[in-house]
This record gives sequence, structure tokens and C-alpha cells, in this order.
Amino acid sequence: MALVQEIKPSKKNLFSINSQTVLGNEAIAFGLFDEGVEYAASYPGTPSTEVMDQLLDLSLNSSLIASWSTNEAVAFEEAAATAITGTDSAFVCKSVGINVAMDPLMTLANSGVNGAFVIVVADDPGMHSSQNEQDNRLITLFSRLPMFEPSSVQECYDLAREAVKLSKKYKIPVMLRSVTRVSHALGIVTRRPSLLTPKVEFKKNPQRFVNIPGNARKNHHRIIELRRQLKEEVISSEFWEEIKLGANPDYLVVTSGSSANYTKEAITALNLNCHIFIPKLIAPFPERKIIEIAPKYKKLIVIEELEPYLETKVKHVIQSNKIKVQVYGKEDGITSREGELTTEKLMANLAKVLNINYEPPKVISKQIIDLIKIRPPVLCAGCPHRSTYVLIDKLLKKSNPIYCNDIGCYSLGVLPPHNTADILICMGASIPMATSISLTKPENMGVALIGDSTFWHSGIPGLANAIWKNVNILIVIMDNQTTAMTGDQPNPSATNSPLDIAKTVEAMGAKTITINPMDFNKYRKSLQAFIKDDGVKVIVSKYPCALNIAREIKKEGKTLPLAKINEENCNGCNMCIEPLGCPALTLNKKRLAQIDPTL
Ligand code: SF4
Ligand code: SF4
Repeated sequence: MALVQEIKPSKKNLFSINSQTVLGNEAIAFGLFDEGVEYAASYPGTPSTEVMDQLLDLSLNSSLIASWSTNEAVAFEEAAATAITGTDSAFVCKSVGINVAMDPLMTLANSGVNGAFVIVVADDPGMHSSQNEQDNRLITLFSRLPMFEPSSVQECYDLAREAVKLSKKYKIPVMLRSVTRVSHALGIVTRRPSLLTPKVEFKKNPQRFVNIPGNARKNHHRIIELRRQLKEEVISSEFWEEIKLGANPDYLVVTSGSSANYTKEAITALNLNCHIFIPKLIAPFPERKIIEIAPKYKKLIVIEELEPYLETKVKHVIQSNKIKVQVYGKEDGITSREGELTTEKLMANLAKVLNINYEPPKVISKQIIDLIKIRPPVLCAGCPHRSTYVLIDKLLKKSNPIYCNDIGCYSLGVLPPHNTADILICMGASIPMATSISLTKPENMGVALIGDSTFWHSGIPGLANAIWKNVNILIVIMDNQTTAMTGDQPNPSATNSPLDIAKTVEAMGAKTITINPMDFNKYRKSLQAFIKDDGVKVIVSKYPCALNIAREIKKEGKTLPLAKINEENCNGCNMCIEPLGCPALTLNKKRLAQIDPTL
């Protein structure tokens, strides 16, 4: 029996507002919601976080269940199960977050779902906030999942809705890939009313959803056939945009996503006559459309950031159909495999490759550049991580430590004056790295530095491994009771959570001490003895994130009290300035400490 899914209007009465200015990420959330997604899970990560922030807002007074999970694999598995049992669902993550979810993703790509399942991934060309520059369009090559790629805020909304529809129709997960510049673009989105859609009833089907090898083989066969049908859908649905500049275009240009925006600007500025083809569903690639239009041109230019995904697809179609057209791409210098594209870079590259006269914009004068203050990333004023770093530096001076860091605000310990980061790979790697270093380099102390959110995300398996191997390492867990780096999302350490890091670590069998980093002198002696013990030793350095304290005070309608130095008690010893490196603390003209009230 088909059930009818009722979508209640949100308490903010959002349906009465047809157009509003939102971020690309917020538009994705609206698209998922308006198309009937009822379950959404995610782990925070820039540049994807605002998708879930908005979904959480929409869930306040609707039937949508949206929540943060402990990591991306957990979030994916939650949403996968709801999609399999018939609830339209979504999973959201940042570029590298998808790596954590790859295990369930690859299996779900094979078995499919019953309700809709949309995988939203926001890539980060230029690595503004990521540890690598992976191009997740390539996932479609081995997962065989369809992928939409929006280039504007409105398309974020429209294609999120299309992704839900396509997933529902073919009963397979559908990916929506954004990038920082689209996710964080601000633009107008026009929403369309939600439709009542029949809810899929779950009928047990272990042959399809219990992925033992015999069933998985049948699923694999079925998914290959589905992929063929999907290619037909691409042609009939026309998920693309075509722009013709000039009466008789000289070039065919193939581009997509954010690159399409740079392309439109560069080609207009260079006054080129072009036929621009912009697929919106980039996997399966609309091959038949290329076969139809490419023979009309002598030159075909592919414009894309990062990997030559479109270029490989285009060249394959051109070669296998013996189309006589010259293709220009990465190796010709049209775009780079590294970093973000810009309109200026693209104009210069196109002019060079196509031998066009082009005068680059005048370089800003050196005096102006000198006036621009370079602001390197820095821990916030009052951040408790600084005190933890000062403490461990004092404690471990003679222990020859190798600092294995994890992902979070505390990665900034790599900067002077702290210099408490020697190796950083990915979420959860700190404890395993310290473990193996302690076994191969007994002359050094393996030290793992990890935050509370990362501990719950993927720190626990590393800790179990270290205790099991009975290694001699020090783990410092900086518990500020929030996922601070991405803007204060809750995790199992949040206030009122039944989980507690120190109790968990102790229960697992590690020696544990909890300290207040803002009062570190109190613990110095006991810690000196503590770190000399054998085995896995864990210091839980517990103090709330400074920004969170400020937010809580503001929420209560109070004004943040201004901290001041009592000059009568200050001798200008500099101890609170240089070792801490806090931007709010400086010496005044009297050579006494002062706190910048604006910070
Ligand atoms: S957000 Fe919080 S934890 Fe992160 S640097 Fe700022 S104060 Fe420190
Ligand atoms: S400089 Fe800082 S640490 Fe030294 S006495 Fe003054 S306030 Fe205290």
C-alpha cells in the first residue's frame, strides 16, 4: 500500500517566501527538503557544513529528522538504512569526508535503495580548509553513481530536487557535487511548492540488501543494466545548458560546475565566438550530445578545475566516434590540475593557447600590496588550546617528543610559538601514528594531540589499538565540548551528553588525568610524575571553546565581560605574551601587559 508523505510547513513559514538570498549550501538543503527528504545525517566539515545547519533549521517544525553524527561513515550508514527502508534520505559531507564513508558508499552503489538517497559532497579546490585537493567527480568512475554538478545557487536548489527524483526513480544513490565557490556563493533562490509524494513501503528483500557475495554479484549485474538505462535518461531529460556566443561560433567549449562561471566571464571578456555546452548531470556523461554537436566544430576546448574528468570523457567520445575535432585541455595549458581557476587565469591561458591578443589587468602597485595586511590563520584570542600547548611544551622539553596531530583548530599548534605539530595526515590518525613511532623510535616520545570531536569521530579505534599493543605513548585530548573549527556543532562531548571522554578512556584501560588548561601550574607536578609512567597515558585537557563561551553569554542576553590586566600586579615579565602567542595580549607603553578589548 502506498503511503502518502505529508510535508508540514516549517515554523518559519518558509513556503510563503518564494525567493530569498541564501548560500549555495542552504539552497541544497531547501532543494532536498522541498523534494521530500525526511532523514538527513552528516558530520561537519568546511565547505559543506551549512547544508546540515539549514536542514536542522528546517527540521525544527517539520517531519524531517536531521542530525549530526559521530563521523561520515556513521552518518552515511544511518541515511543508507532509512533510504533502504523507504524514507527519502540524504547524506552530506566535505571533500575528504567522503573517504570515511567510502566503504558503505561502494556497497550501497551496488545494492541500491528503496526511497531516495542523495549524497551531497562539497569539494575544496585550492584546499582552503582541507588536507588534500581530491576531485570527487572521479568517484563516479568506479562507483558508477550518477552525479549532478550545480554552478549557481538556483541550480543548487533545482539539482538537489532533481537528484532526489532521479534516485527515487532508479532506486540508486545519486551524488550532488559542489565546490567551495558554489557552496559559499550568496544568491537568490526561488523555491517551488513541495509535492505530496507516495512513500515507499519497505518489503524485506535480503537477496538485494544483505550484501553477501552471491547477492552482491547479482546486484552488480543489475546496476550495470540500470546505468545503461540512465544514459538514455540523460539524453531525454536534457540536464544541460547551451549558450551560443556569436552567429557562427569558432569553438565548442565543454565545461561544468564552478568552471562554467569562469568560462562565461572569460569568453565574454575575450569576445570569442563560442558554443558553450554545460552538462549538469556529469555522470553518466551525455556522450550522445557531444556526438551530435562536436562534428560542427574544428576546435573543442575543455575547461575544468582539478582532474581532467570532462576532458577524458570528451576525448573518449571523440576518438571512439572518429570525430574530426581538435581537443584542447589540461596538457595544452587551458587549465591547471592544481588549485582554483579564476577568470583572469583562464583568460590568460585561453589567449596563449588560441594565440589571441590579450592585455592582462595591470598588477596592483607594490605600495598597495605592502599596505594589505597578510593575516595567517591563528587560534582565537582566549583559545584554551594555547595553554595546553604551553603546558605540554614545558612538560615534554626533555622527552624528545614527536607530535602527531589530528584535524581541528588545534592543528594550528604547528605555528610558532607553539610548534607542537610534526605530522598530520587525516581525522583520527594521531594516536596510530604515535603508537608506531613509540615502537620504532624509543628515543622519542610519541605524542598524540587530538580534539574531542575527532576522538569520537575516529580516535577510539586508535586508542583501543594503542592500549592493546601496550605502547608507551602520551595522548592529549583537548576537550572543548564542541566541534569548534566548523562553527560549534555538537558532538558526544557536548553539555548534557551522557558520554564523557575521561570515563570512556579509563574504562578502556588507559591511565587518565583531567586538567583545566587555564590553571595549568596547578597540575605541573602531578603531570611530571604521570608522564613517566609506562603504557598509554591520556591527559584530558578540558575547557570550553572561547567562542562558545561568548556565544552562550550572548544567548543569555548578557554582555561579554571585558577582561583587564591589573597593572598593580603586573611586572611585565612577558610570560603571558610570548609563550601563549595570544593576539589579544601585548605590552603597553609602560611595558606592562594589556588586553586588546576589541578581541
Ligand atoms: S574556535 Fe574555539 S577552539 Fe577554535 S581556535 Fe577559536 S577558541 Fe580555539
Ligand atoms: S606580563 Fe603577563 S604574566 Fe607577566 S606579570 Fe604581567 S600579566 Fe602576569
